[in-house]
Amino acid sequence: MVYKLSSADLQGFIDGATAGIHSVDASGAIIYANRAEMDMLGYSEEEYLGRNIFEFHADKTAITNIFSLLQQNLTVVDHPATLLCKDGSTRDVLINSSAHFEDGQLAYSRCFTRDITEHTQAKKALLESEAEFQFMADAMPQQVWTACHDGTLDYVNKRVEDNFGVTTEKVLGEGWITFIHPEDVDQCIKKWKHSLLTGELYEVEFRLHIEGEGYRWHLARAVPLIRDGKVVKWYGTNTDIDSNKQADQKKDEFISIASHELKTPLTNIKAFIQLAEKTVGSPKAPDFLKKAQHHVMNLQRLISDLLDTSKINAGKMSYNFEELDFADLVKESISNFSQQSPTHKIILESNADVKYHGDKFRIEQVLVNFLSNAVKYSPDADKITVKSAVQDANIVVSVQDYGIGIEPEHLTKLFDRFYRIDSTAMKYQGLGLGLYISSEIVKGHGGTFWIESEPQQGSTFYFSLPLKAALPEDVETDDKTFYRTNFINIEYNQEHQRLEVDWLGFQNLESVQKGGLLMLEFLQKNQCENVLNDNTNVRGNWSEASDWAGKVWFPMMQRAGLKHFAWIYSPSTFSALAAKKSVDVMIGDVQTQFFYDRGEAVEWLSDGESYLK
Ligand code: ADP
Repeated sequence: MVYKLSSADLQGFIDGATAGIHSVDASGAIIYANRAEMDMLGYSEEEYLGRNIFEFHADKTAITNIFSLLQQNLTVVDHPATLLCKDGSTRDVLINSSAHFEDGQLAYSRCFTRDITEHTQAKKALLESEAEFQFMADAMPQQVWTACHDGTLDYVNKRVEDNFGVTTEKVLGEGWITFIHPEDVDQCIKKWKHSLLTGELYEVEFRLHIEGEGYRWHLARAVPLIRDGKVVKWYGTNTDIDSNKQADQKKDEFISIASHELKTPLTNIKAFIQLAEKTVGSPKAPDFLKKAQHHVMNLQRLISDLLDTSKINAGKMSYNFEELDFADLVKESISNFSQQSPTHKIILESNADVKYHGDKFRIEQVLVNFLSNAVKYSPDADKITVKSAVQDANIVVSVQDYGIGIEPEHLTKLFDRFYRIDSTAMKYQGLGLGLYISSEIVKGHGGTFWIESEPQQGSTFYFSLPLKAALPEDVETDDKTFYRTNFINIEYNQEHQRLEVDWLGFQNLESVQKGGLLMLEFLQKNQCENVLNDNTNVRGNWSEASDWAGKVWFPMMQRAGLKHFAWIYSPSTFSALAAKKSVDVMIGDVQTQFFYDRGEAVEWLSDGESYLK
């Protein structure tokens, strides 16, 4: 039996529907709306009916479009639109509508409004969380990747592109394998296949080829995401462990060197004591004992170096600060040292007559270490020159030898623990700890150290100790175009619209940061893009500030408008290396160029555009 619905039944359907339903006349005036629609928008019948539908659309193009389709008697299917609610909020909807024509004219149209706000919000949240994941993955210092259940790589973060110097497409799929060291590929694939088969954690060490650096050891790790007992995805990272690997290797080497170094004096002591025993009473015996004593001192020195190193590692190196006469300290250290080293004459060319607050024993240790290296590494020379002077509120001490010298690539590494130059390590005994301990002592006094050296000509080792914690600053500035003080001069060159900066004397992290922030302020105030950065008058070593300059300061300067940075080298090798390192680790794309000559730097900045292309 077929039922025929009454118009009351139909009305009941429409009113009870969960989708919004309305009808508008040819002008857009609302002639009917069901409960669901008015509830959705928060209006009563009185407030809704009779008003024009255009008023309730946040996006007028959508409703204009819908109306134009209806006027052409076309059906509107799932047209997206945004409706305005009474409380000011909006709802995302899909509109389905058809027109009713009378005498060839649009009479009214029926409209179904489906609320999809929750759906669009969920989609937006998903997109946002994807973008956040991407951002987080790109911010990680590691390579981050994901792979499908079958092991095919389907995502890598930006670090991978940067490391390999290729586009992501070249790495995805199987492409990544080409960046693994040929000797490590088999082992890596074997482990990966095993994890894919068993769903077990993937962990392997291999060397990856990093553009511009060569192969570096990495630790790859990946965990599977399991749903309903099946692996659906792998989440992995490759972490650079090259420095740890090298440190481990150095440690092993060190243990073998240390055992050897300790054994040599011990064997000699044993031999001389035996000789003394055999010759008791003869005039030779005291001589043998004296020689044994000499080796006991060597042994003692080695052991105290080892103890100092472990103290430094444990952060337990302590200092006995006292007021002392610096000139006396230098004189006494040289005199004590000379007695044990008759092969070289030590010439004290100048001596700073100044009172200093520091640890006498430890500073003497630094000086003696420099002196014994100077003797050890200049076997064919017979003199060493020592100078101590006060410069820019620092005591600067230098020890110059005329020996084997040092190749530039080793210079900054010599103060690292266990570092010895391979080519000479066999010939000269040592543990590679003396300079490391010295640098810690100098840093413990707030000072710094550096080396100037010419292979086959000799080396000069320097350390400087600040006389006062903070330098009294004498500042001249108009707060806009110039700032002159004892460690930096900043001038704004109006004609060439560039900042001209002259760094003066010894620099350290504190002075570099202070000067850097002043430059930022003056760059912003004058809105210029070019900087002429002159290090001709810089002395010493400021390598502790290189990372800050490259990774923090350059990006700040770039955001403030810096485009071109002409950097005139300091004649001090260590300072030049600190500058180079800042640019090597620099984040951002400020154009930088190094110069030995100020004229060339000015020229580069003046017609920079043509130079840069
Ligand atoms: P060690 O002399 O015990 O090896 P140091 O820490 O004192 O350890 O020195 C580290 C390395 O620096 C030395 O192995 C040597 O290669 C190099 N070196 C130090 N002083 C000099 C110097 N005056 N001339 C040349 N090379 C030097």
